[in-house]
Amino acid sequence: MAKTGPRLHAGGAGQRELNAALSGREPDHGSLAALLRQSGLKLTPQRHLICQLIENSDGHPTAEELYESATAVMPSMSLKTVYTTLNDLAALNAIRLVNVGTGGFRVESNLEPHGHLVCRMCGTIMDIPVNPAIEEELAVPPEIEFEVEQREVTLRGLCRSCASKQGEGAGA
Ligand SMILES: [Zn+2]
Ligand SMILES: [Zn+2]
Repeated sequence: MAKTGPRLHAGGAGQRELNAALSGREPDHGSLAALLRQSGLKLTPQRHLICQLIENSDGHPTAEELYESATAVMPSMSLKTVYTTLNDLAALNAIRLVNVGTGGFRVESNLEPHGHLVCRMCGTIMDIPVNPAIEEELAVPPEIEFEVEQREVTLRGLCRSCASKQGEGAGA
């Protein structure tokens, strides 16, 4: 298991908003939960919590990470509920489910075109801007006749902290 550290924060500053959202008083326009409701999909407190956790996450959480954070707040959460909620949100194009080769898929809530830096040691994933010119560089030769639906730019290596740790190890 890659140690990615806790990425999701169910407590702290977000707790008040979370409680307000769970009580159903907040109209939360434009939120993932509102989108589910507007689309006529089931919005249980469990699904609402998952939406909140995605919105409060600062990275690319896995379903398992979301599940772990969710059970801390709501022990009745099931992993199946996490999966079905993620699939519903992905079907609504509110999130994307991406695989950056770290095992399993990750929730992508940044819908702007971008690439990823993936640390092979700690599994950290960072967004990077992608130069639109790369689209032309990566053109498929016409004779291949392949209809591109998605482009992914993933650069793998070591993040700053892992690179410095490895430097220390090599010198010892
Ligand atoms: Zn790292
Ligand atoms: Zn991303």
